[in-house]
Amino acid sequence: MRLSKLPLHTTKETPADAEVVSHQLMLRAGFIRKLGAGLYTWLPIGLRVLHKIERIVREEMNRAGSHELLMPSVHPAELWQESGRWQVMGDEMLRFKDRHGNDFAYGPTHEEVICHHFRQDFRSYRQLPVSFYQIQTKFRDERRPRFGVMRAREFLMKDAYSFHMTREDLAAEYQNMREAYTRIFTRLGVDFRIVKADSGNIGGSASEEFHILAGSGEDLLAVSDSGPYAANVEAAECLPSAAPRAAARATLEKVATPGQKTCEQVSQFLNVPLTGKVKLLVVNGADGGLVAIALRGDHQLNEIKAARHPRIASPLRLADPEAVQKVFGCEVGYLGPVNCPVPLIADHAAAAVADFVCGANQNDHHLRGVNWGRDCAEPETADLRMVAEGDPSPDGVGSIRFFRGIEGGHIFQLGRKYSEAMGLAVLDEKGQSVTPEMGCYGIGVTRLAAAVIEQSHDANGMIWPDGIAPFRVILCPIGMDKSETVRVAVETLYAELADAGVEVLLDDRGHRPGAMFADADLIGIPHRIVIGDKGLTHQQFEYKHRRADKAEMIAATTAAVLEKLGA
Ligand code: ATP
Ligand code: MG
Repeated sequence: MRLSKLPLHTTKETPADAEVVSHQLMLRAGFIRKLGAGLYTWLPIGLRVLHKIERIVREEMNRAGSHELLMPSVHPAELWQESGRWQVMGDEMLRFKDRHGNDFAYGPTHEEVICHHFRQDFRSYRQLPVSFYQIQTKFRDERRPRFGVMRAREFLMKDAYSFHMTREDLAAEYQNMREAYTRIFTRLGVDFRIVKADSGNIGGSASEEFHILAGSGEDLLAVSDSGPYAANVEAAECLPSAAPRAAARATLEKVATPGQKTCEQVSQFLNVPLTGKVKLLVVNGADGGLVAIALRGDHQLNEIKAARHPRIASPLRLADPEAVQKVFGCEVGYLGPVNCPVPLIADHAAAAVADFVCGANQNDHHLRGVNWGRDCAEPETADLRMVAEGDPSPDGVGSIRFFRGIEGGHIFQLGRKYSEAMGLAVLDEKGQSVTPEMGCYGIGVTRLAAAVIEQSHDANGMIWPDGIAPFRVILCPIGMDKSETVRVAVETLYAELADAGVEVLLDDRGHRPGAMFADADLIGIPHRIVIGDKGLTHQQFEYKHRRADKAEMIAATTAAVLEKLGA
């Protein structure tokens, strides 16, 4: 492609409303343009990258045996009512009516629609397992669309759905998809981690996310520093300590702590570390009453874990402070487990502290030297807290470090949640009706383009891996309009590279070298060849990889260039 023919609009200015580097660079390099909140047009140069990502995804999905289809974006409301999600989806789902007054949704995901197709054509175990995928536009009315195409409202997703006679077969397909995703993310040239994810209220333990590591990532990941363990912090388990609790030594004592309500205040006031304090949170119980959760002073509640506890209401709700005051007889800042008037569940770590400080259930007072089993009952324990950096890894190998990640993909064993709700049935070998097991597998295709930039850029612009770069190589001729030697050399090279199947961009706009190089760097073309009279007198081109600090001279032949490209 000749750059003079490509409508490319680049700019030096960093757009004021773009917070993250990928968004800034995609705007500056003319990859995308904003239409409205969370709505973006992909311009020709950007679309080349998107198509390459799509191609990799498509190739690997096909290789994994999934069949491509294409489902509508507009869904009749009845399907969503059938699964019960018409209500559950809330405002994230865009809804509208047609001219007859019928309700519709713009699909945020396609479990209902694929189930509808499945039940039309699948009746027998002989037709299973089967897997379908599509690469298609979704709309989610995100509360906070931001970061450009990373959290957009309209975006491109690859979504796949598989159907199975047994759980074992589903588990095998899940593994197959996990491997396909691993190939996809590897081919994208990104540093990624597969992390355990929260499987929500759908049940089943197998749900993993594919995260691209980047400081701007919205998700926090807990990763072992020396073992394979990796989980979204939401899903990371915290095991009880193997060491027994220290013996009680201190005597119980009530101390005045006027106005000291937070753990930090109390810890300073009494000069005890946060790890020696036990705090109480009161939440609504599953039975309508109140439940107290005891946590170590330095730990945070994991709301997802708590909501899953059978005695705690889901979704999790902190108890109304007035109700707490009434039951405990004191303000929320002075709660403690001694003579606790409501059922109490202690996080494993809180239950492991001896001689601790806690609220006295009396305003402006705390207790010190408190011990479980002596001053109050041994508590029921559970894993209720957020994992912390430095915790031992739950698999016993290494300790936990935190990373930020961008969720690029999510694989899921759904089980029978949708197949049951949508009334899917197939006959097994004995002629008995069976509800099939389902899996679903998503990749954010448009988000991936931005995620790659987050991981691969420098002060001058994007740095595309060869496999998804808009062009593999850019040719920058110096003085092409003045020098016949340069013109012939560059035109020959351009034609021969194109013949060799290389995607080559020729900057024939007649710009000065500085301007040419700035654009080449900004749009992130991995390889650059400069063709000038000076080099040609020694039969040389100048070659520079986008990541290299310095250029080098190579023989002025197409073969030498191809060798540099690894083509
Ligand atoms: P997130 O937690 O980031 O909102 P999600 O859990 O809602 O993601 P899924 O429903 O699993 O996402 O969708 C599959 C994939 O689609 C995600 O892994 C992500 O890459 C992509 N995706 C989801 N929401 C958006 C969005 N608003 N903009 C761009 N891509 C998205
Ligand atoms: Mg979401």
